[in-house]
Amino acid sequence: MKYSPILFLFLFTSTFAQTDKELAASLITKNKIEGHIYFLASDAMKGRETGTNEGKITAEYLANQLRSYGTKKVPGANGFFQDVPLTKTTAATTRNIVINGGKETQIAPIEGGNYHYDGAAVYLNYGLEEDYAGQDVRGKLVYIKAGSETIRGAQQMFGLMEQKKELAKKNGAIGIVELAAINPEIWNFIDHSYSENRVGFPENDEKTETVDFNYYWVLDTDNAIANDLATKRSNFGKVTISGIEKQEFISRNVVAMVEGTDAKLKNEYIIYSGHYDHVGIGRPDATGDSIYNGARDNAVGITTVLSMAENLAKHPTKRSALFILFTAEEKGLLGSKYYVENPLIPLKQMVFCFNSDNAGYNDTSLVTIVGLGRTIAENDIKVAVSAYGLKAVDDPAPEQNFFDRSDNVHFAVKGIPAPTFSMGFTSFSGEVTKHYHQDNKIPGIHIYFAYYGCMVCIHPHSKLFFCI
Ligand SMILES: [Zn+2]
Repeated sequence: MKYSPILFLFLFTSTFAQTDKELAASLITKNKIEGHIYFLASDAMKGRETGTNEGKITAEYLANQLRSYGTKKVPGANGFFQDVPLTKTTAATTRNIVINGGKETQIAPIEGGNYHYDGAAVYLNYGLEEDYAGQDVRGKLVYIKAGSETIRGAQQMFGLMEQKKELAKKNGAIGIVELAAINPEIWNFIDHSYSENRVGFPENDEKTETVDFNYYWVLDTDNAIANDLATKRSNFGKVTISGIEKQEFISRNVVAMVEGTDAKLKNEYIIYSGHYDHVGIGRPDATGDSIYNGARDNAVGITTVLSMAENLAKHPTKRSALFILFTAEEKGLLGSKYYVENPLIPLKQMVFCFNSDNAGYNDTSLVTIVGLGRTIAENDIKVAVSAYGLKAVDDPAPEQNFFDRSDNVHFAVKGIPAPTFSMGFTSFSGEVTKHYHQDNKIPGIHIYFAYYGCMVCIHPHSKLFFCI
């Protein structure tokens, strides 16, 4: 069979004049996307909690995907990893307080370790500056009410704690028992968070001075305990906190790069990031299922980053690309915090960070880009997204502070434009909250391919955007 010249011409132009969309779609397929998500969010990965074996397997999987695409190791990294030193603090197995010889009640150890105290104490109303006048609190435990005359909300009460702690320390007290007149439902939430293991950074020497201070919360709905202590200032409590154990371990950010093609511009980098951890195993649902699979949050997000990496390894851009898959986002954005404090390539070379994180979605005609309006790339992003028939919209729920609740914020703080790319949502309610940190499983998840396509399309291949 002979080829006609017209067919040749067609082949030539289609090879050398691929549109952004064609380039983006040339390597990603719905099957590949499903392949990543179905593995990452499988029950076998047990919710990918930081510090678990499944968390490690997830990091290995991601590193080896990046290896298979032909992305490069980042100089200074440990292979495709950046080691992140962390500390796991197990929850206290015993935590109780007996006040005024009353019945034993639970306390939430906000700060401090194992402790037993049966010594001198002082009651100091709200524990504000004026309450210390004429009082000797040295070496004593201070009992106070949470908040102030005007501050009654739990969140605002928390906001006052640092100030109260400084006052107590300045006056020589050894700790605070704060009596919180709050709704029992809020108390349950607080209590629950202190009955779980916690992960943080290892304490450095500067911080050890605060370790000896203890800060506790006790539920006192109607101020009954506070009123009692205010009138009978003699008899105080016996505090017992025990069973807390600290264990240091190493978790890992997964990192890789693709060098840019332009001799000069390759010194500038665009970061594509997302967190790979989720919340692990927790309270079972009605069916007894206790695995929090994290399909949306954030198997979807890391799949967009993998798709980017595969595409860019094949079709590099003028600027270099840096891929970072963070550990310990769900433990307080720790992996990204560690990265910006210990960058493998100087942060001043980073011109943009496109983070990918997901709570859920309720509109597959959209992509929601948290912080879209904060970057001058807004219009270019909108145009690139429209190549896939989607519409880019900004955060519809600013009251949720999503911009500050994902890894992007640490880059933004360092002056790097860093929006977060999410599946389409028009409000933080209904379908979104139903799945958020709850039923975050694969069944029912709609792989709306355009979402992945436009993520890949947005950046490298849009002539309006970074390639110029
Ligand atoms: Zn997330």
